[in-house]
Amino acid sequence: MKRVLLILALLICTGTFAQVKEKKIRKYAATIKVKELKEKLTVIASAEMEGRETATEGQRKAAAYIEQKFRKIGLKPGNGDSYQVQYDLFVDSLSSYSLTLNGIPLQPNKDYSVSVNTSANGTWNINEIYFAGTGVLDTTQLDVKDKWVVTDETGFNPLRQKIAQLRRRGVKGIILVSKSFPRATPFSLKSGMDITSHNLSNTYPYLTVSYATLAQVLKTTSLDSASLSAMNKTSYPTNLSLSVARTELKLKSSNVLGILEGSDKKDEYLFLTAHYDHLGKRGDSIIYYGADDDGSGTTAIIELAEAFAKARKKGHGPRRSIVFMAVSGEEKGLLGSEYYTDHPLYPLAKTTVNLNIDMIGRIDPKFKGDSFNYVYVIGDDKLSSDLAPITDSVNQKYIGMQLDRRYNDIKDPNRYYFRSDHYNFAKKGVPIIFYFNGTHPDYHRPTDTVEKIEFGLMRKRVQLVFYTAWEMANRDAMMKRDIPLNIPSR
Ligand SMILES: [Zn+2]
Repeated sequence: MKRVLLILALLICTGTFAQVKEKKIRKYAATIKVKELKEKLTVIASAEMEGRETATEGQRKAAAYIEQKFRKIGLKPGNGDSYQVQYDLFVDSLSSYSLTLNGIPLQPNKDYSVSVNTSANGTWNINEIYFAGTGVLDTTQLDVKDKWVVTDETGFNPLRQKIAQLRRRGVKGIILVSKSFPRATPFSLKSGMDITSHNLSNTYPYLTVSYATLAQVLKTTSLDSASLSAMNKTSYPTNLSLSVARTELKLKSSNVLGILEGSDKKDEYLFLTAHYDHLGKRGDSIIYYGADDDGSGTTAIIELAEAFAKARKKGHGPRRSIVFMAVSGEEKGLLGSEYYTDHPLYPLAKTTVNLNIDMIGRIDPKFKGDSFNYVYVIGDDKLSSDLAPITDSVNQKYIGMQLDRRYNDIKDPNRYYFRSDHYNFAKKGVPIIFYFNGTHPDYHRPTDTVEKIEFGLMRKRVQLVFYTAWEMANRDAMMKRDIPLNIPSR
């Protein structure tokens, strides 16, 4: 009997408690203040942070700042006893290259180009070239084994196929003839970054030359597509020498993670993410400050951590654990979040949702409606039918913003669903919502600076995320996963 009474008393308490809580929730949301957002973003988007390019000193400074904030707030380290997860990045570079004809050097970008993505390392003396034909080739009809093969540059996909077929047929090397010389921009000496090694052994001797250069090789005055195709299946003697030195650089970057432990559902997780990296600087004077992109999101997750930590101190901590993760490598191709979701520290199956914030401090000039009261909500129609109703009810109850869902249309040419870190979670089946203000003329320009941020609007958007996260971290069930992600991958 006593026990029944106790349970009854507990139930009543929980009920009253929940009543009090709504007021409390508003109180905790109110701790997210314009002044604090401004203070933090002013540091994150300062010249001191050098544009926060991945694998640079600026990025490391930003990571240290975020870590220090997480620590001060009282979050636990998200990676064992560390707040940061280091990961490797690979970049290839052409340290030297040359092409000579009869011992005389040809000019890069005017006469020829080499590719940092495909060129093998080595030196080759090319004494004979074989004309395999133009356009789409039937390589089964060609005897190209151990030959340097000349073909023209056709459309991207046919070209890739053609090269793959030629390699399967055992060519020694490939010479592409291209009309795009002289190059408008010099060919790149550095590859993009990747979280896996590009495997230098999977490269091949590869060269692109101008029509004029090939004419010089053949000792004719001019050459065009027609004369090239007339040389089908013929060989010519040459005296070319190609030399390429390509090296792989291994760099390091990090994601910063702090965790606020949950109560009765602490083995389930809610992820709040934003990327803290940006585009860095050009020379010493041009800095890409990235105040909106994504200093605003980075600031937001620190403020959110602070608000949830305050609530927890007052005995109103979340039922599920909340992980605050600032990722790097976003501007290099969503690499930090890809690394995380490939090497999760908390089970993705137990990750109820990822709320990702990327650019919430500005106004899209193309937005029609109340510019000071909107946000684009992306992805809440996919993976889970819980996302949209919760978003709507929370918004109605606490915020009253215009939630613009136009970018949920998978046919939208901007493809925003694929363009920030939440996509790596979505790929693994974790329901996501992406909060975004749209682009503006300062997007990816050095003029994306802190004084252009609309802090009042930003605060409102951060609070929307706060209330949504509160609801999702505290409700009985995880977000159900009832909608397959039926969209073509990138
Ligand atoms: Zn961004």
